[in-house]
Amino acid sequence: MAQVWAEDGLHMGADFIAEPDDITTAKMQFFLALRSRGVNDPRVLAAMERVDRGLFVRGLFTARAYEDVPLPIACGQTISQPSVVGLMTQAAEITPRDVVLEVGTGSGYQAAVLSHLARRVYTVDRHRRLVAEAQGLFDHLGLGNITAMTADGCYGLPSAAPFDRIIVTAAAEDPPTPLLAQLKEGGIMIVPVGQSDAVQGLIKVTRSAQGFDYEELRQVRFVPLVEGLGSE
Ligand code: SAH
Repeated sequence: MAQVWAEDGLHMGADFIAEPDDITTAKMQFFLALRSRGVNDPRVLAAMERVDRGLFVRGLFTARAYEDVPLPIACGQTISQPSVVGLMTQAAEITPRDVVLEVGTGSGYQAAVLSHLARRVYTVDRHRRLVAEAQGLFDHLGLGNITAMTADGCYGLPSAAPFDRIIVTAAAEDPPTPLLAQLKEGGIMIVPVGQSDAVQGLIKVTRSAQGFDYEELRQVRFVPLVEGLGSE
């Protein structure tokens, strides 16, 4: 498609073609970065191709939306690094029947990716402003299988529990007990664990009839999971 634009644009001046070409190149680099960092599950890559990260980054940082870096969003929070979103989603082994809880809606980007893989996605954030902005994007994109709510995710979402999968996108000092309790048998939870000012371990928790198995996947750096609701 880029080539068609470029050929048509030749006699219309460089300005006309500059933006689409730049964006196309940036998006190609975005997917190359995902693959080179280990995101190789075709279903996860296909879901990520359906979600334009540029819509989830506002203001000054929109120009960097297709770089594989975390970026600031409102309320002093961050949209996660895309390759980490991909690796967490891949590790969660989501199937089309799954009901998923995400703790930490943030920009809504991760929830939008999950919405293309799961039957239903519940996402909670302690900042109601972030939930409202993310809900606006979900509506705009027609992602009707996401329910976004303002809530303290340390306690999970008892009204919709239990969950097949839980993805926590803020770092806890330990996997919160209420979240473990809301994970179905056979379920998987992905959670960054560690002090907020240090490198954290990304943990995959698998629940079986015998109990919980813990596997450390890699090192990550997330904003902290904070108890209670935010002021905005
Ligand atoms: N998944 C997001 C990135 C989240 S950043 C995205 O795709 O953009 C982490 C988020 O966790 C922040 O928005 C922060 O407000 C939220 N958070 C921190 N502690 C929380 C808690 N106890 N309950 C719910 N959300 C929490």
